[in-house]
Amino acid sequence: MRRMILPNRAALGTMHGKAVAIAPPMARLGITLEVPDGLDTDRFGTFTNETPRLGTMDDAARAKACAAIAATGLSVGIASEGAYRPHPWIPFLPIGREVLLWRNEETGQEVIERLTDEAPCYDNAIVFSTDEAATFLASIGFPQTAVIVAPGGQGAAPLAKGLQDLGSVDDAIQRALHLWGTGGAFLQTDMRAHLNPRRMETIGRLAERLAARLGTGCPVCAAPGWGLLRVETGLPCSWCDGPTLLVKTEVHGCTLCGSEKSLPRTDGACTADPGHCPTCNP
Ligand SMILES: [Zn+2]
Ligand SMILES: [Zn+2]
Repeated sequence: MRRMILPNRAALGTMHGKAVAIAPPMARLGITLEVPDGLDTDRFGTFTNETPRLGTMDDAARAKACAAIAATGLSVGIASEGAYRPHPWIPFLPIGREVLLWRNEETGQEVIERLTDEAPCYDNAIVFSTDEAATFLASIGFPQTAVIVAPGGQGAAPLAKGLQDLGSVDDAIQRALHLWGTGGAFLQTDMRAHLNPRRMETIGRLAERLAARLGTGCPVCAAPGWGLLRVETGLPCSWCDGPTLLVKTEVHGCTLCGSEKSLPRTDGACTADPGHCPTCNP
């Protein structure tokens, strides 16, 4: 079988210090990251909506990876993209999604890892005084987690971002109250990786997964990144044998040559409880 070849160097498309989290697992694969100077990744979208993201999270990560490839002249680029919002069905809980993309410009191969953070440091509050802000700041782990201040009401353009000292926060709150006294001052966690330790930690976990995946070669073409491509549902019901919506198989494969292999569920389950069956428990 051919030996898998990984590059010695890869370009990392970030302006928010993500190398801290991504470089160590890549170094264990023998890959040194190069972060181009002056790369403006904010043009592909910001968390605070001054620049809305065009396309999907994958598109944004790809655009950053391609920009890093173009800036360095290397053939491989890596970039991440995150999205944070209130949980879709659990009130008052936030949820975060992170994507980490590896792209080889010469072959066109991409390897993408994703994860969901069920406990991100993502929150906001409306305050009418600096005293009121103290509780919020304590809850988000300020000053390690930076804060953004805007006039009251979500969606208003921020007055100040990346604040990590109390004096600046107080000052921004006063300005917000002056501009929009009745609506209060809108405080929110800064989600940029270098200003949000929890997010940086999440990106680190994702980088570990990407490294593990890149370390696995395709058994057919030896490209790096053999791993989970998708899951297929239809685990048979233990009563009627009909298909349920539970995962039946994991499809692992190679994103370069297209080889695939279906594997049974990792927990070994061969049948589903009838409670999950649309026929037995409609
Ligand atoms: Zn392959
Ligand atoms: Zn059934």
